[in-house]
Amino acid sequence: MAQRGVQLDPKKFCCSICLDLLKDPVTVPCGHSYCMNCIKSFWDKEDEQEIHSCPQCRQTFTPRPVLVKNTMLVDLVEER
Ligand SMILES: [Zn+2]
Ligand SMILES: [Zn+2]
Repeated sequence: MAQRGVQLDPKKFCCSICLDLLKDPVTVPCGHSYCMNCIKSFWDKEDEQEIHSCPQCRQTFTPRPVLVKNTMLVDLVEER
């Protein structure tokens, strides 16, 4: 899947919540990616307000989006 020779920007593969490499990467509807667990617990906290937002760009999502594992990112992250 991942093309050889493509320069990967490690920052793009880091989760802005835990600041570590993405683990079980999921992409939210605005296009930002997080670890499945990080964004889950982030949104669990937001559940009370019935609003879910992207910690990076503050875009809000209602209802809570279903998190789908980003298989393309999984391939890229696991290759490293
Ligand atoms: Zn994370
Ligand atoms: Zn975002």
